[in-house]
Amino acid sequence: MSAVARTYQKGEIPGVIAINPDICKGCDACKRHCPTGAIQGMFGATHSIDVDRCLSCGQCLINCPFGAPYETSFTVDEVIAKLKDKSVSVVGIIAPAVRVAIGEDFGLPVGTLVTGKLYGAMKKAGFLIFDNNFTADLTIMEEGSEFLQRARHAIFGEKSEHGGEIGPLPQFTSCCPAWVRLVETHYPALIPNLSSAKSPQQMAGTVAKTYGPAVWGKKAEKIYTVGIMPCTAKKVEASRPEFKSAYEYHKQKGDAEAATPYPDVDTVLTTRDLSLLFKKMNIDLAKEAEYGGDSLFAEYTGAGTIFGNTGGVMEAALRTAYAILTGQELKPLEFKPVRGLKGVKSASVTLKDSKYNKEITVQVAVVHGIGANIKPVLEEVLSGTSPYHFIEVMNCPGGCINGGGQPIVGSGSSWLGAVLPWFAWK
Ligand code: SF4
Ligand code: SF4
Ligand code: SF4
Repeated sequence: MSAVARTYQKGEIPGVIAINPDICKGCDACKRHCPTGAIQGMFGATHSIDVDRCLSCGQCLINCPFGAPYETSFTVDEVIAKLKDKSVSVVGIIAPAVRVAIGEDFGLPVGTLVTGKLYGAMKKAGFLIFDNNFTADLTIMEEGSEFLQRARHAIFGEKSEHGGEIGPLPQFTSCCPAWVRLVETHYPALIPNLSSAKSPQQMAGTVAKTYGPAVWGKKAEKIYTVGIMPCTAKKVEASRPEFKSAYEYHKQKGDAEAATPYPDVDTVLTTRDLSLLFKKMNIDLAKEAEYGGDSLFAEYTGAGTIFGNTGGVMEAALRTAYAILTGQELKPLEFKPVRGLKGVKSASVTLKDSKYNKEITVQVAVVHGIGANIKPVLEEVLSGTSPYHFIEVMNCPGGCINGGGQPIVGSGSSWLGAVLPWFAWK
């Protein structure tokens, strides 16, 4: 990989993973899981992390046999204090992959889907429920529409309605912050290829603080948003200084009360953090009654649900593009492993563009576990020889269900095998 081109912006958390030198045995196991070579140290010596190379993905943390890596950003107690403050509405933004993993922290079989119990436990803790699947649907609509615009620009020379620039093909998905940081730090020439859509977490924070005040009867300044994610990198994402859209919206409207900008997402808890929060509050998720949510922010489609699985984002976005063009449902795509490109799956779909009365055949690819798999894909794109128009990239092997913030019990394909069925097409 090329030299690091970008580290952190002012105000951004400069990485959330470190290695405890008192525990590290220098066994090198973590290095096999690190996508960027950020872990330093000779075999047998204490290891450390180069934060400028680190993506905060947490793969070293969940794969270290000795438990030496740890998270440096920990806000469970801060969230509990907010939950006890009756002047504040605390909104829990629950990602798709959390609900199939958190049950095991409360003695349920690995892979048990606990959406209703999770909602119930969160309600008991004092959260307002915001299902991240709701904004996964929004992300899909944005990414699908953007892809259509880029494709029509590339094929038919169509211009932007508003005169803005249209990004090149292939379009990369942008919902994985570890992947976005990899592009920014190691492949900055490809930044224009990233979708301009925010991730579901960041859309949720913005929606909660713009539409939320009308739904919950609270000023944006009194809404505290908590991303509940399978992912450690989401902690860094939420701290990026550009993610203050709700504040900017209220400032333009003239009803911003806060003198200084506030973030769209105030803090992020991993699945492990949420388990700890429940335990500190004496809430046993396994014994909670099922709860269905209490606002439209708990509504979502099957497309949002498959976000947690590799291939889900791109397939759902293509479905949107297909529906816009044809008014019909796209059948589930059949992915095939691509010869010579390890860890990459591809598919093709032909769309009839009714506006131009022409058929477009779209080649799509899905990459996960980027350490070993992404380089040849990006080299093809950089050299102009990539056959693909749309590429989904997720840092973690298997996607977010195997994220660095998930419970550390079970491992490998048996764990993935237990949870994958929940992300099948609904
Ligand atoms: S896997 Fe754990 S113990 Fe082994 S070198 Fe890495 S951090 Fe240290
Ligand atoms: S968090 Fe991810 S990128 Fe950072 S050192 Fe660990 S495995 Fe490498
Ligand atoms: S694949 Fe998912 S869990 Fe892993 S770094 Fe990306 S967003 Fe986070």
